[in-house]
Amino acid sequence: MWLFDLDNTLHDASHAIFPAINRLMTAYVARVLGCDEATASRVRVDYWQRYGATLLGMIRHHGVDPADFLRAAHEFPALADMVRVRRGLAAHLRRLPGRKILVTNAPQDYARAVLEIAGIRHCFERVVAIEQMWVHGHLRPKPDRRMLRRLLVQARIAPHRAVLVEDTVSHLKRYAGTGIRTAWVTGYLRTIAPSRPHEVPAVRDDGSRRDAAVRSTLEAEDRRHVGHAAQEQSVTLVAAETQAPQAQPGHVPRVRARVPNRPAYVDIKVQSMHQLQRRMRRIGS
Ligand SMILES: [Mg+2]
Repeated sequence: MWLFDLDNTLHDASHAIFPAINRLMTAYVARVLGCDEATASRVRVDYWQRYGATLLGMIRHHGVDPADFLRAAHEFPALADMVRVRRGLAAHLRRLPGRKILVTNAPQDYARAVLEIAGIRHCFERVVAIEQMWVHGHLRPKPDRRMLRRLLVQARIAPHRAVLVEDTVSHLKRYAGTGIRTAWVTGYLRTIAPSRPHEVPAVRDDGSRRDAAVRSTLEAEDRRHVGHAAQEQSVTLVAAETQAPQAQPGHVPRVRARVPNRPAYVDIKVQSMHQLQRRMRRIGS
């Protein structure tokens, strides 16, 4: 059984989608905080540094609904123009023997829309999106092990009979001890380092006023903080944020990542689905 990630595994999300998600996240934060985008972006940097994701800070300090946040961050009126897939993707997937499930930390509507546009919806027996990743009342996105174990039990498949196909190497690493096999897709990686929320090109001021604005926003939040510790522990990652290149609006980095050698916990390293299919044919199923 193949468990496929979506963004930057089956299509190029670094090109247009991740930068757009990044901008939508900043706009969402600005809306909730009632501040301008420059302040919102700095608050995001702070949350990213403190909690590992904007969403975690937004849950902790503002009690936002994760589903609402992620839906707002994935609203693309012109999605069809933003999805980039390599030619022959559907055929390569079809030629891979075995069952296929899509497992993405993105919302369901977005995932299904991308699959439709890419012409590969029919390749998957099931789409497991962020909405399906609640385990015992906690949101457990990739790389949570409980979520994956439950998925394998539901699919009635032993871990060693499953292959996770992903571009995010930290996910593969986290799952390494579970017995599942791993394929690392590197063809769409533009940068290795995790991104931070983009810096909005700010009004040039002396810096202190700007920092004071961020500080006062954060202090106001701390005063309002009512404690969402349980929820905070439960959300581990937001995909777009940890993979997206540092994007400025209107500027998409073209630099291809210098991909390091295959780590020990990665079973197969490939650039594309075409290469994966060729490699599997050579190895035999
Ligand atoms: Mg991905």
